[in-house]
Formats: sequence, structure tokens, C-alpha cells
Amino acid sequence: MKLKIMNLLVIVYAVMVAVTVLWILVGSGEGINTDERIPEAASVEFTAATVAAATIEVSEPPVSTVPSLTQPLPDLTEPPETTTTQEEVATMPPFHNNIDPSKPMIALSFDDGPADATLRILDLLEKYNSRATFFVLGERIAGREFILERTVKSGSEVAGHTWTHRNLAHLNEKQIEKELLDTNKKIESVIGTAPSFYRPPFGVFNDKVKNASRNAGLAIVNWSVDAGDWRSRSADCIYDAIINDAHNYAIVISHDLYDFTADAMERVIPELVEKGYQLVTISELMYYCNVELEAGKVYFCGLY
Ligand SMILES: [Zn+2]
Repeated sequence: MKLKIMNLLVIVYAVMVAVTVLWILVGSGEGINTDERIPEAASVEFTAATVAAATIEVSEPPVSTVPSLTQPLPDLTEPPETTTTQEEVATMPPFHNNIDPSKPMIALSFDDGPADATLRILDLLEKYNSRATFFVLGERIAGREFILERTVKSGSEVAGHTWTHRNLAHLNEKQIEKELLDTNKKIESVIGTAPSFYRPPFGVFNDKVKNASRNAGLAIVNWSVDAGDWRSRSADCIYDAIINDAHNYAIVISHDLYDFTADAMERVIPELVEKGYQLVTISELMYYCNVELEAGKVYFCGLY
């Protein structure tokens, strides 16, 4: 019995010694070096990562996400509120989303059509994602309605150039008004909307013409760059005239009656686009120049 107690005491003593030795080794740090298990580089990385994470949290607080979580989701069953009335939409100029207001733009315009050359010019405009304004003669529309329809469908615009192409300075006010309104009615009967401006034949205007235009509710739009196509009858000269005089916000006049004008446009349109000009309608040009056309007033380009 005594021997058993002695053996038990020896075992207890041995266990106590073992625990003490283990405690000394761990406590002194000689057995497991924590610094060696986390190398210096890793420690630096960890520190930098921690700082970076802290910086991101500070510089990019989740301000944008937190409120959205606390705000109620929009009710998608309700139509969005709009402040634009139907009347305002009807009077807004055509807007094409490929226009960059910060880049140069030019409005090409073609008088005296509709004609066969109109179709060639529309082909070119479409090819280069461009548009123009076509000042048509009322008396030329019958039988060529499809040209006006195609003009509008391709994003270009139609405006009046009087019914008979007479010099308006030679007419009285009532006659002038009739020239303008008959043409506008005919255009409206084809494309569904009446233009708000027109171009007088030969660009001629005086106080009488301006009064009649005001009474008809139409602004007068002339040009700042003359292609001189009816004078030169040369595609090369037309090209030179337009390219040499082209300027930002210009309105260019030429005529879609002639094949030589369409020939010139095969070079003019890609060249202007290459130079960085956006080819827009006169309505678009005025819109981006913040010009609100007034009936009876005369305009030459987007600047004056
Ligand atoms: Zn004309």
C-alpha cells in the first residue's frame, strides 16, 4: 500500500515538473517565436493593406449606397412625372442623339427642289449620317410628294421657298403672304407639320417682305456661305466655294436642281465630316445656338 502511494506521488511530481518546464518554455518565448512566423515584409504588407483599406473607407464613404438602402424604391407601376406638355413636345425641334453640342456644326441647305438630284443628295447625307434643310417650291411638290416624305424620314427637314419663285420685292404684302402660306399648307399636307421659317427667292427681302412674313408667322432664313452652283455650274468650283468658306454654325446655300451640285456633294459632305463638322438641319443649328426664330426676322447662320 505504501509502495503504491509512493508510485502515485512520483507520477504526480513528474507531471508537475513536466507542466512547469512547458510553462517556462512558452512563457520565455524561446520555444515558439511569433515574430519569426510573421516575417517583416508580411507585417509591412499587412500594415499597408490595413491603411489602404482605412483610406478607402474614408475617401469613398458609402454615401451613395446607404441612402438608397434607406429610401423607398420607386413605384414602377406609376408613370414617371414629366414637366413637358404635349404642346411643348410638338414645338420642339427635331433632336438627334448623335449631335455633340461642343463640336462644330454646319447646316447645308438646298433650294428649288424637289427634284431628281434631291434623291442623290439624300443618299449621300444618309451615308454619312448627316442631315440638311431643303427649301422647296410649292408648285414643284405635286407628283414628288415621296421626295418630301423621304427627306423627313431620313432626318432632314423641309421648309418653303414660295410657290412660284417670284421676286417677293415685286409683289404686294397680300401676294407675298399667299406665296408663303400656300406653300406651307402644301408642305403640311404631305409631311404633317408646317415649317416655321422659309427662304425668299434670291434671298431678297425688304420691310414689305418682313411685314408679310411676320403676318404669315414665318422667320426668314438666308445663308452665310454661297456655293455659287447656279453661276459656276462646276462641281470643282462648288467644292472649293464651300470648303474655303466653311465656318462653325454656317448655313450653306446650294440647289438640289442640278446634277453638278449633287456631284460636288459627293466630295463636300465627306470632306466636311472629315474636318469634324456635324451636318445638321437649320432647326438643329438654331436650337444648339440658342437662337429662337422670330417671325419677320432675318437670319443668316447660327451666329447672326
Ligand atoms: Zn431659289
